[in-house]
Amino acid sequence: MDANWIYLDNNATTAPAPEVVAAVNDCLLNSWGNASSSHAVGQISKQKLVAARGAIAKFLGCKPAEAVFTSGATESNHMAILGSLARGEKKRLVLSAGEHASMQKLARQLAAGGYGGHAVQVDFIPVTPQGTLDLAAAAQLIRDDAALVSVMSANNETGVLMPVAEIAALCKAAGVPLHVDATQSVGKLPFNFAESGADLVSVSAHKLHGPKGVGVLLMRSGLAWPALFAGSQERNRRGGTENLPGIAGFAAAAERLMNGAEKIPETAARIAALRDRLEAGLKAALPGTVVFADGAPRLPNTLYLRFGALDADVVLNRIEKLGVIASSGSACSAGGSEPSALLVAMGVPRDLALCAIRLSLSDATTDAEIARVIEVIPAALAPLLGEQSDPDGKQLAA
Ligand code: PMP
Repeated sequence: MDANWIYLDNNATTAPAPEVVAAVNDCLLNSWGNASSSHAVGQISKQKLVAARGAIAKFLGCKPAEAVFTSGATESNHMAILGSLARGEKKRLVLSAGEHASMQKLARQLAAGGYGGHAVQVDFIPVTPQGTLDLAAAAQLIRDDAALVSVMSANNETGVLMPVAEIAALCKAAGVPLHVDATQSVGKLPFNFAESGADLVSVSAHKLHGPKGVGVLLMRSGLAWPALFAGSQERNRRGGTENLPGIAGFAAAAERLMNGAEKIPETAARIAALRDRLEAGLKAALPGTVVFADGAPRLPNTLYLRFGALDADVVLNRIEKLGVIASSGSACSAGGSEPSALLVAMGVPRDLALCAIRLSLSDATTDAEIARVIEVIPAALAPLLGEQSDPDGKQLAA
């Protein structure tokens, strides 16, 4: 890593915290036994697993037995969807239109190919032009014939916070299980499973300064949910030898957020102030700057915007040469020439959606870094924007 890089792609992944690296390392060296082995070496790992589960449960406001460790949010999301189809007769899924690719791609595959010889119907709750959910449409779609309703707590591209409480009330009234993909909000905003109204929740450690390849599916006690991988681990709910170094690292990340010098609400306020400064600074310096979903409640760390009609690839290339690392949106669909499906669903024209840049901060982002970005980006882009704009800049402000 280049020490001069300013990393603003924290919605894609975060740097592991030093205490996370230490916990993973310690586990690899000292607790490498199989937690299912009854001998002494296995029991050291078992104790570590129990302690890590306890810390993560405390952090997420769930009972330890409600936490099923997985390989990350993609697997947790798949377990939520496929389990809902496996557990009963209902074969209708209701998803929000902004769901992560790991949900949308699976849902579309199921809609095209069916499940276990049955047709699967997938209905998407539309998003509004501000990127939040159309609650009137949700009320129509959430009916007792649904196997599962799934919404995300916050969108990975826009950062928009979704109306989970309202959706939970609709699900409760209809008697339909609710899954929440909370991957982007956990660690950035306070979260409590017991109070969330959700039956199932996906979380991923690498979005909160933990390691990659480890996450959790929280499952409300008493909810019978078929496993994706059969096996006896995780109380028969997820087979496979537990990724103990990953789980220990996840627990260290959770403990850091619970016991650090600053608590999540204070950190969120500090990051939001930095993000707002960045947003205001870029808008002031580059009048063609348009922020997506700026009228909706957003994650404190996320800024999704376009600079006039400058193509995202051009912008990202220029700013990376100056040390600013950002992305055009979801890392899971970046690299293609397709615009963000979410922006298109929000009504953004395709050519302008291809101009979208996501700047996402973390609790490690400093004032000095933001001050530098406010200088570097305008200096790099002003000449390009000048070429595009008409004399009074109106064309860019569209
Ligand atoms: N859901 C959301 C909202 C995400 O942002 C991501 C990560 N990009 C995932 C799911 C997938 O998480 P993982 O990388 O742990 O599989």
